[in-house]
Amino acid sequence: MSKKIEQILLQDQFSKDDIIRLLQSKDDEEKALFVKSSEIKLENIGKNVHFRGLVEFSNICKKDCLYCGIRAGNPKVDRYDIADDQILKAAKFAHEHNYGSMVLQGGERSDSAFVDRITNLLKEIKKLSNNELGITISIGEQSEETYKKWFDAGAHRYLLRVESSNPKLYSKIHPDNDEHSHQTRLKCLKSLQDIGYQTGTGVMIGLPFQTYEDLANDILFMKEFDIDMVGMGPFIEHDQTPLYEHKDGLMNLNDRFRLTLRMIAVLRIIMKDINIASATALQAIDPLGREKALKIGANIIMPNITPTQERANYLLYQNKPCIDEGADDCTNCMEARINMADGEIGYGQWGDSKHFKNRQNK
Ligand code: SF4
Repeated sequence: MSKKIEQILLQDQFSKDDIIRLLQSKDDEEKALFVKSSEIKLENIGKNVHFRGLVEFSNICKKDCLYCGIRAGNPKVDRYDIADDQILKAAKFAHEHNYGSMVLQGGERSDSAFVDRITNLLKEIKKLSNNELGITISIGEQSEETYKKWFDAGAHRYLLRVESSNPKLYSKIHPDNDEHSHQTRLKCLKSLQDIGYQTGTGVMIGLPFQTYEDLANDILFMKEFDIDMVGMGPFIEHDQTPLYEHKDGLMNLNDRFRLTLRMIAVLRIIMKDINIASATALQAIDPLGREKALKIGANIIMPNITPTQERANYLLYQNKPCIDEGADDCTNCMEARINMADGEIGYGQWGDSKHFKNRQNK
């Protein structure tokens, strides 16, 4: 007979089977899981929720991930690349509104003009904010030299989602070529960690072909890799992508949503001091999705401060929320949402990963 959820929740160590059991919990069992994860969050992280003002600065990408709406092979996308002065204006907004941190996110490019441009932007953002704004970047796979250059220019956190820790599943959702190699992804994550970034990763939840065992392995991978921060969300299909042909085999959106909440809860129980982002994709399924994630374990939220006219063109998935609000509207709405989730905004703080600090002191 399988173990009772209550019994598993009393343990300090969790086997893969325990994790699968927790991920499959329903009704009262799911409630018990959420009560536990929310207690652990309060004990280890507190009520503070930290902002990362998100600038999706360009949807030009050289890659062709089979699930992504802005993949290079999608001719229907209106491509944009926000001018540097607009990016700096958004950074100034984040600084003036005491966000504490921002995220620069864009499609993947590695040509030298692009690398130099990002280096320069990082330096300018540090300058305009008197070094006060923390910067996370999320611009995909790059050489170690580039990662180092951007670190030296002022970025101190990097988010590179592994999407799945299972190489076989990874190969089903990416083209089969050197540009989309699981091994390279792992090598990049290792470089980021070695350079000294607070290193973040994440996975998609509810992918075609994905099993509960895959998801349990994802959590064990994050633990083993000693990851500092995680951003993971439900997989939402996009009809202009090759993966869309498998849409009939997907679990329904609500089930993907609940499973994502359980993934966040289990991860919080297993990695008590990491930063966990409440993904925007949760809100695409449930209007209160991000607040629910904050309650049960997440502690980071990313208000979108991309200039409004470009937001509709950064659709990695469909039905993305908040694509037509200005940055000010976004802040007000966030404040109300976080209060509702019984959280407090850590204004003006970087909100660094405690795990990173604990890892350094080991
Ligand atoms: S997931 Fe990222 S790297 Fe892949 S196609 Fe989309 S933007 Fe490019």
